[in-house]
Amino acid sequence: MNELEQVVADPDFKGYISDLGGPSANMYRMQGKDEAICARCSSPSCIHPVICNNLDTNHKHMTELYRKVDKHPKVKKAFIGSGIRYDLLVDDFNKNNNDGNHDEYIEQVITRHVSGRLKVAPEHTSDATLRVMRKPSFKYFHKFKEKYDRISEKNNLKQQLIPYFISSHPGCEEVDMANLAAETKDMGFQLEQVQDFTPTPMTVATVIYYSGVHPYTLKPVKTVKTREEKQNQNKFFFWYKKENRDWIRRRLQQANRPDLIEKLLDEPKAESQEQKPMPKWLEERRKKK
Ligand code: SF4
Repeated sequence: MNELEQVVADPDFKGYISDLGGPSANMYRMQGKDEAICARCSSPSCIHPVICNNLDTNHKHMTELYRKVDKHPKVKKAFIGSGIRYDLLVDDFNKNNNDGNHDEYIEQVITRHVSGRLKVAPEHTSDATLRVMRKPSFKYFHKFKEKYDRISEKNNLKQQLIPYFISSHPGCEEVDMANLAAETKDMGFQLEQVQDFTPTPMTVATVIYYSGVHPYTLKPVKTVKTREEKQNQNKFFFWYKKENRDWIRRRLQQANRPDLIEKLLDEPKAESQEQKPMPKWLEERRKKK
């Protein structure tokens, strides 16, 4: 609120806050309940693979802060411009919703702080790739979307939910990208942006990218690196572009995935690709001959 007072006092301030809270907006000021435990902790993540019991994930304080900002007489509108950590708002993943603080937060965001579209970053649909990223299973994104749609409908709002994804991440194979494209298409998305993996310092993914092995298990993890391999992963994402159709069909035929051709290109499975087992009666007749 002190920062807000400084911003609104600026003669150039026109009444709009473009991004309240910063990256991972709903993790603003989340911290250990007992910081003495945190001081002794060596866990690489407070929220993966499960949320630590000692992490205070209550969204109530944030919702109250948003309401305060919203009520400020000099603020016309304050938006959440950065992504929110959606998994922390899914009850199956974060059980800390007995008082309804998750839904209350989402409702506040949806009704007051979204500028047309809300960005969230499931990053991938493949559980194996998500594990390398220390991100939760994509099944939680489905749950979040259900909740988002329910609250939007209740408030008569039609603001787009935009999921962000990454291609060529260590551990991600071409067929994983095809699956990602098929699953998001099935959910009704026609996405326009995918980020190509870029190694950044101090991350497990970067260690894998350069060494070829997972540093915790020392097991090999494949990472695509050439421009061609990266572009190939990217093409599945744009299944709706005419120029990619033939290439996608060929590639999935080679991978023997007629199911994905059907899902991505709306083409029925070709009999020859289905590799159905020969019916018993035909097998026996052939043997007799
Ligand atoms: S994992 Fe738990 S104990 Fe460790 S730093 Fe995070 S909140 Fe604290």
